[in-house]
Amino acid sequence: MVKFAEAEARRFRSIFVCRRCKTKMRAPNIKIIQHKIKCRRCSGKVFRAVKKK
Ligand SMILES: [Zn+2]
Repeated sequence: MVKFAEAEARRFRSIFVCRRCKTKMRAPNIKIIQHKIKCRRCSGKVFRAVKKK
């Protein structure tokens, strides 16, 4: 789990996109997983990594 998070962070450079308003946010991967990051625009807590199809 930890290794996966690390690899993911490296791959996507810890940049995430809000699923609600599509704002890009840079945050530590582990915080995204733990839902400790709030979107600054819509306060949504659901993020996805960039470049995900
Ligand atoms: Zn948002």
